[in-house]
Amino acid sequence: MEKMAGYYDIIVMEFELAEKREEMNLAAKVEQYLPGQVLELVTSISKEAGQLGQRAYLVGGVVRDLLLGYPNFDLDLVVEGDAIGLAQQIAKTRTIKLITHPRFGTAKLSCGDFTLDMATARGETYAKPGALPRVTPGILDDDLFRRDFSINAMAISVAPDNYGEVIDPYHGKSDLEHRFIRVLHTRSFQDDATRILRAVRYEQRLNFKLETQTAQLLKRDIPMLRTISADRIRHELELILREKYPEHAIERLDQLGVLQEISPCLNYNGWLTGKFDKARKLNQPGQLHLLYLCLLAYRLSEEENERLIRRLNLPKKLACTLHHTLRLRSQLSLLAKPAVKHSEIYFLLHEYNPLAVQANAIAAESSVVCFNLELFLNKLRYVKTSLNGEKLKGLGIPAGPELGKILQVLHKAKLNGEVKTKADEEKLALSLKQ
Ligand code: ATP
Ligand code: MG
Repeated sequence: MEKMAGYYDIIVMEFELAEKREEMNLAAKVEQYLPGQVLELVTSISKEAGQLGQRAYLVGGVVRDLLLGYPNFDLDLVVEGDAIGLAQQIAKTRTIKLITHPRFGTAKLSCGDFTLDMATARGETYAKPGALPRVTPGILDDDLFRRDFSINAMAISVAPDNYGEVIDPYHGKSDLEHRFIRVLHTRSFQDDATRILRAVRYEQRLNFKLETQTAQLLKRDIPMLRTISADRIRHELELILREKYPEHAIERLDQLGVLQEISPCLNYNGWLTGKFDKARKLNQPGQLHLLYLCLLAYRLSEEENERLIRRLNLPKKLACTLHHTLRLRSQLSLLAKPAVKHSEIYFLLHEYNPLAVQANAIAAESSVVCFNLELFLNKLRYVKTSLNGEKLKGLGIPAGPELGKILQVLHKAKLNGEVKTKADEEKLALSLKQ
């Protein structure tokens, strides 16, 4: 009996060891996770690195998402050596798009839908809170230590001699299992307060929780957001607005007091949830995040809107869209009459940015107003007359202000359904000819 127990013990131990090895070696998972073409590229990089005496690792989001089983199209590779030189070497032997940033020691390779960002391993030190870090070349450990959260501070080696080995100095894997967002050290939010916004973004995207001490540090360091430039805040806010359900993060930022720190006039309420939902159903993939921003600002006063624009240093075009959104809001009563003419709708709205019209169509309370705004967006803005200036000249109408006026009357009549065919237009044009 004793002998048998020993035998089973050994089998169990071997099994556990194999499981442990599998846990810490993700070679098989990497091969399942990456599409063949990308895998081939990563393998070539790793081989080339080996020949140059360098080592390459998959790091950050791709490791996190691989362990979670989520897709990730933006791969990050850290190279202990020279990422740019390595990327250039790889690009020589294949038709592949390569962009390099020598100042940052980074290179971007594109492979179908995938991008591969290669960076030379580096360490960072912060001279003062919020300042951009001082960067020094380093090894993988330095590179992982500069990262935001444990779940983003893992690496998988793709070097031939330990391919698939997980490097996890901050127990990111355990935090993934326990669903925690955890900073790596107590100064993390002070060094870079954009991590406050990032923490909430990941917490809400992944349905995780801020680990207890991380939550305390985050609350303590909210005032550090003042050390962050407008452009960096805007960038992080944009990343939030590009999430699938940004309202979750916005609600959480409001609850933590972060939203108010960014701009005292911003707040979250149930109203926004319904509106964001409606915006999603309109499904304007490329512009959805901008539409969300218009809705976020929708209930601000003109003055508050100006403050927000300044705080985020919004580019001119976007600032203009926000101005349009609020200006149109103050004009909506003109669209509330049930018998408002299509031409009136058109001439009121055609100079507004379509995104501002869309935001109002989502946000307006009156169903008549919403109907008219949507009518403009879906139909009226595309209405064109069959006749143009040249064709009018062909009818004997001389170039000049009269021609312009006739074109306008035709357009109006077409919008209102008073003319339908080209012949109708010609008849009307000739009747207007002096
Ligand atoms: P996402 O799916 O949102 O793109 P990601 O993890 O790929 O997630 P990126 O913003 O693409 O995030 O950044 C790549 C990696 O760079 C992160 O995983 C993180 O390790 C690191 N990183 C990015 N921003 C910061 C920051 N402000 N402070 C520290 N590390 C950061
Ligand atoms: Mg990424």
